[in-house]
Amino acid sequence: GDLVRAEHLQQAYGDTLALRDASCIVQPGDRTALLGTSGSGKSTLLHLLGGLNAPSGGQISWPALGEVSQLRPGKVSFVFQAQSLLAPLTALENVALPLLLLNVPADVAQERAGLLLEQLGLNAVIQQLPEELSGGQAQRVAVARALVTRPQLVLADEPTGQLDSVNAQHLMDVLLGACDASGAALIVATHDPQIARRLTQVWRMANGVLAPAEVAA
Ligand code: ADP
Ligand code: ADP
Repeated sequence: GDLVRAEHLQQAYGDTLALRDASCIVQPGDRTALLGTSGSGKSTLLHLLGGLNAPSGGQISWPALGEVSQLRPGKVSFVFQAQSLLAPLTALENVALPLLLLNVPADVAQERAGLLLEQLGLNAVIQQLPEELSGGQAQRVAVARALVTRPQLVLADEPTGQLDSVNAQHLMDVLLGACDASGAALIVATHDPQIARRLTQVWRMANGVLAPAEVAA
């Protein structure tokens, strides 16, 4: 079934209508770019799709995922821009943390986190602190942290925003590979058409209005 169904979503922040009209369906296996300029409402929509906020208007449901209160336990994950890792924790501890929060035993969580970091080519940095990582490495660790719970939906908000174009494309390789391996649906918010081209469909956002999906050329 559909992971998310959203109809005519609106989101107001005080007097600002950040999101004016967004309707969309997210299905298993989707690889979607949410393309629009800064301030167009992309983050606002991702937060609603992940159940972080309730919309000011419109309808949203998660037919295949249950109630909004059930989304958080590992079914929906976010990848944010750089610097989202917890500074006092090693790469391994950062990736294991979401499993600990789900009450997975510590030894199982560490093993699973280590395996995933290995699969993402991050063997060498497992014991390092975020400040010791390159920007590209840190973002790949953030991908591992998002995927470690085996979510059904991954919402990435400008995940390549702080990276040069080579590292940005590498991050997309890692993100797409990890979602293919786990079967997660993926939505990537970006202002960069070069990143949007890596996905199979494009949603365009302008001034808080979401245009219908187009299949990427
Ligand atoms: P994007 O992700 O495309 O850059 P956002 O969804 O972050 O766009 O922002 C859409 C609009 O909503 C912008 O005008 C932004 O300034 C405003 N906005 C976003 N978050 C808040 C907030 N918490 N309070 C007030 N205004 C906000
Ligand atoms: P495998 O080595 O076959 O991949 P898993 O890593 O899936 O095994 O699971 C190892 C243990 O951790 C199992 O007992 C499983 O029930 C538990 N576990 C795995 N993922 C979760 C999760 N998201 N929430 C709670 N328990 C989990």
